[in-house]
Amino acid sequence: MIQRYNTIRVRFALWTAGLLITALVGFGIFVYLILGSELARSVDDSLQLSAAQAITAAVDNGQISVSDGVPEPSALTSLHDRGFTIRIFGLDGTILKAIGAFSDLTVNSLDAATIQKHHTRFDTVIEPVQQEPVRFYTAPIVVNNRVIAIIQVGQSLDSINDTLEKLLAALLISVPLLVALAAGAGYLLAARALSPIDTITRTAQSISAHDLHQRLNLPATNDEIGRLGATFDTMLGRLDDSFRRERQFTADASHELRTPLTAMQTIIGVVRETRRSPEHYEKALDDLGGETNRLRALVENLLQLARNDIGSNAISKSVDLSILLSDVAEVMTPLAESKALSLTWIVPDNMLIIGSSDDLVRLFMNLVDNAIKYTDRGKITLQAKPKVEWIEVTLSDTGIGIDREHLLHLFDRFYRVDLSRSVQGNGLGLSIAQTIVQAHHGQISVSSELGQGTTFTVQLPIATSQPNLSSPLEKQTL
Ligand code: ADP
Repeated sequence: MIQRYNTIRVRFALWTAGLLITALVGFGIFVYLILGSELARSVDDSLQLSAAQAITAAVDNGQISVSDGVPEPSALTSLHDRGFTIRIFGLDGTILKAIGAFSDLTVNSLDAATIQKHHTRFDTVIEPVQQEPVRFYTAPIVVNNRVIAIIQVGQSLDSINDTLEKLLAALLISVPLLVALAAGAGYLLAARALSPIDTITRTAQSISAHDLHQRLNLPATNDEIGRLGATFDTMLGRLDDSFRRERQFTADASHELRTPLTAMQTIIGVVRETRRSPEHYEKALDDLGGETNRLRALVENLLQLARNDIGSNAISKSVDLSILLSDVAEVMTPLAESKALSLTWIVPDNMLIIGSSDDLVRLFMNLVDNAIKYTDRGKITLQAKPKVEWIEVTLSDTGIGIDREHLLHLFDRFYRVDLSRSVQGNGLGLSIAQTIVQAHHGQISVSSELGQGTTFTVQLPIATSQPNLSSPLEKQTL
């Protein structure tokens, strides 16, 4: 239950409502106060104006011309009709004239100081019967710089209070309504914007290792969610790919391991069937030794692949490729000569790269070994050339060559062109070579002409900085 409310969309709606309520309440208070003070000022202005009109109507020849019992001038009547109360006091405080609804209301402002200092003042008095607030303006009537009487003009504040009350009621109704609307709209908008996240969650929950072909396939938009969906799909694609390759690899590896084991079982079975001559046992042991060697080579290759896959090899040492290539060529020369092949190498001095000499030796040994294996006559040439950013090593042979259709798959694990296995091998050599080159941030490629020969090209980045003295040149371990 708590989790249901603890969602981004609910939080978004609550934040929207909270922010809006703060803003609207602030705005409402501001409008209420400003309107209240403006209305009060307009009442005061109109009281002052009415007082001036009343004075003009009530003074004649420097004297107050109105008194109780005498019909008042039309200006006073009109002010009375507009709801004003007008009272004129003599200097002794006696009322000379009083008209209007609040003419009996007492206002304690008729003191001597007010009269003498020509002061004007405003007072708000509560009418005792209706509890109605009434605003009064008191001012001296001055003729020839002399105060001759006091005028008091009053007006009810009821209409102002009415207006303010209506405003308050409107605010009290509209603010919660607007807040509820905004919260609802915020919730819906957030729900709409976040619905792809629900899809992502559901898909992620339903995916297992055997089910990685699923994709979100969200509509391609260039916003955050669109990019998240696309990244998720790409990641799933990569996972799917790597799981599939892993499964394929395990299947191939098991198959490859089973072949020598089956051969060994067969040899043992045949030998056990009946008593054999010592020569027979010797031959069986030789065969078993051959199969064991095959198994060992396979397991070593698998280990090497796993090691390169998890990048555990140190490839941060300076390696002199010139020495390393020459040593590889020297070590492989007897093997080449055993097949009457000439192995030549053209390697300039001082070619430094950053890498792991063990892995690089394995890489070039694999390539030279293949060249010898798949060449029956002619020559093998190992050549290295420093380029601007790379050292380019090419290994060419005049062997059987590789058909174009096989070139694409040559670096796949367990891929062999000659499935009859007339030549010993397990199809892992080139795959290992490729992982080593990739671990060294280099490239490997092959070109071949069937019946003419094959050339492998390896490009390895030149060491940009001087070799680090604390990590001495790595010696190859042949
Ligand atoms: P293998 O253990 O079979 O040699 P590799 O991965 O080293 O495995 O090589 C894969 C396949 O590529 C080989 O089976 C072979 O058919 C082909 N190949 C590799 N190098 C050469 C070469 N120099 N000339 C002709 N074919 C080659």
